[in-house]
Amino acid sequence: MSRSCIECKKRIAGRADKKFCSTECRSAHNNRLNSAANNLVRRVNAVLRRNRRILKQLNPSGKTKISQNRLSQEGFNFNYFTNTYTTKAGKTYFFCYDQGYLALGNDQFALVERQEYVS
Ligand SMILES: [Zn+2]
Repeated sequence: MSRSCIECKKRIAGRADKKFCSTECRSAHNNRLNSAANNLVRRVNAVLRRNRRILKQLNPSGKTKISQNRLSQEGFNFNYFTNTYTTKAGKTYFFCYDQGYLALGNDQFALVERQEYVS
């Protein structure tokens, strides 16, 4: 059975479990996989940081109400958050790091700032 290098597709001689023709091809392949994963992490981190910055900007006092429109206008992305916190009453706050929001209905949101870390 003939095998070929995962990276450059050249035929491989030698051990049956070899996947690459050379160490250069091995590291080229691994670098490409790593940079794709790193790019994803960077993009998600950028969204989370922007979300946090928007919440912080709109909530200088640490507690306020705001419309969904205003958040969207600022470029807030509701798909990304770092964690949630559900109260005993069953209300779920969504957090981007220390900055959180709670949907109040009627397109209104309560913004809160968390002082201490809650897991
Ligand atoms: Zn190769």
